Amino acid sequence: GAPRFRMAVRSNVVSVNAPILTKLQQECATPLPVLRQVADDMAADMRAGLAVDGGGDLKMILSYVDSLPTGNERGLFYALDLGGTNFRVLRVQLGGKEELVQATEFEQVSIPQELMFGTSEQLFDFIASGLAKFAEKEGGKFHLPNGRQREIGFTFSFPVKQTSIDSGILIKWTKGFAVSGTAGKDVVACLNEAMERQGLDMRVSALVNDTIGTLAGARYWDDDVMVAVIVGTGTNACYVERVDAIPKLQGHKSSSGRTIINTEWGAFSKGLPLTVFDKDMDAASINPGEQIYEKTISGMYLGEIVRRVLLKMAEASGLFGKSVPEKLTMPFVLRTPDICSMQQDQSKDLQAVGSILYDVTGVESDLHARKIVVQVCDTIVKRGGRLAGAGIVGILQKMEEDSKGVIFGKRTVVAMDGGLYENYPQYRTYLQEAVNELLGTEISKNIVIEHTKDGSGIGAALLASANSKYDHDC
Ligand code: BGC
Ligand code: MG
Repeated sequence: GAPRFRMAVRSNVVSVNAPILTKLQQECATPLPVLRQVADDMAADMRAGLAVDGGGDLKMILSYVDSLPTGNERGLFYALDLGGTNFRVLRVQLGGKEELVQATEFEQVSIPQELMFGTSEQLFDFIASGLAKFAEKEGGKFHLPNGRQREIGFTFSFPVKQTSIDSGILIKWTKGFAVSGTAGKDVVACLNEAMERQGLDMRVSALVNDTIGTLAGARYWDDDVMVAVIVGTGTNACYVERVDAIPKLQGHKSSSGRTIINTEWGAFSKGLPLTVFDKDMDAASINPGEQIYEKTISGMYLGEIVRRVLLKMAEASGLFGKSVPEKLTMPFVLRTPDICSMQQDQSKDLQAVGSILYDVTGVESDLHARKIVVQVCDTIVKRGGRLAGAGIVGILQKMEEDSKGVIFGKRTVVAMDGGLYENYPQYRTYLQEAVNELLGTEISKNIVIEHTKDGSGIGAALLASANSKYDHDC
C-alpha cells in the first residue's frame, strides 16, 4: 500500500545520497594536521607579504595607524562605514578618560543591489547624501566648537593601498561589488567629490579598513587587544606589528615602533580542503581565482556552497523527489542566514528546516531529506569555522615567534566582529574548538576571542580624533 511505498522512496533517498554526503564530509574534513598546515602557511604568507609587496597571497597592507586609542580622545566625530550589505553613519561625542563615550547615534541602511553594479559616482553620491541627511539631524548631546569642520573616520572595507592615514587607492572590489570606475582611484577623493556635489563640508581625517576600526574600537576598552578579525559577508584580519619586523617598510617612522597591518587574509589560498562545489562557485563568481579563503569561510558564500551541494543531490539522486526544484538552480537563493536558521531546528520532525526549504526552493521535503540537508549545512559551516580558527592561530603564532612569550604567555585578546560570527552559534563553536585544538589547553586559556559588536564605527571615529587637524586632546 501507499505507506510502504513512501517508506521505500525515503530509504532510497538516503541510500543514493549517502555517498555524496560521505564524500563531501571527507573532502571538507579539517583534522588537526590540516589546520596546523593552514596556520603555518598563513604565518609564512604573512612574512612573505611583509618582506615585499606581492610576496605571498596576503597583501599585508600598511594602515598608517601607528598609535591606538588611549582614552584621552575628546570631541565630536563622525564615522562612515561601507563594507558589505549595509551602509552606516555614526556620530560620537568623546569625553576623555573621565567621560569616555558620552553619546553616540547611528543610522543604517542596506545598500541597494543596483548600486553594487553601478558607477562610482552613484555609489559615492548615495554615501554622501546619507551622510548629509544624518549630519543635519545633529543636536542635543553633540557639540562642535565654533568654526571647526566636522571630521570623519571613513571605514571602507575593501582592499585599499593606503597612501597615508587619510588617503588610499582601491585595489579591487570584493564581496560581490562590481562598481565601475573606483578601482585604481583614491576613495577619499571619490568621497570628497561626492560631498562637494552635496554641498557638504566635512573632512575625512582617517581612512580605515573595518578590521582596523574594530581593533581601535576594542583597544579603547581593553589594552590586551592585539588582533581584530571580521567574519561577516567577507573576512579579514589585522594585528599590531613591530615596525622593524616589516622589511618592505623602508623609512616609515613610527614613534611607538609599532604599526597596524591589514593582512587582507581573504586572499589566502594554500592547503584549503576544497571541493568541486567550491571550484565551480569560484569559477562562476565575479572575481574567479581571488579571495579563496574568503569564499570558504565567510557569510556571502556558505549558503551558496550548500545550495550547490543540494542541487547536485537533487539532480543525481532525487533528494527532493523526481524533479529538480527550479529555484534551487538560482545562484545565491539560499543565504547563510537560512542555513543558520535550519541548523537551529531542534524539533523531531525538523519542521523549521522543512519550511525554510519550502520558502527558498518551493519543495516539500520529508524527514530524511531534511536530515541530509542539515548535515550538509553542518559540514560546510564546520569547515568554515575551523579554518577561520586556524587562520587566527596562524596570526598569533607569527606574533609569538617574533616576540617570544608576549602573545601566548599572557592574556591576549582577539576582537571579533561580523554577522556570521555574531549570529551563527555553531560557527563560533567550531572556530573556538579549532583554536583550542591547535593551541592546547594551557595556551588557549590566555587567548581570549571576544565579540566586539560594531566596534569599527567608534574605532574609526577614535582614529579620526587621533588624526584630527585640531588639538582635541586637551
Ligand atoms: C575585504 C576586506 C574586509 C573584509 C571584511 C573583504 O572582502 O577585502 O578589506 O576587511 O572583507 O569586511
Ligand atoms: Mg562591516
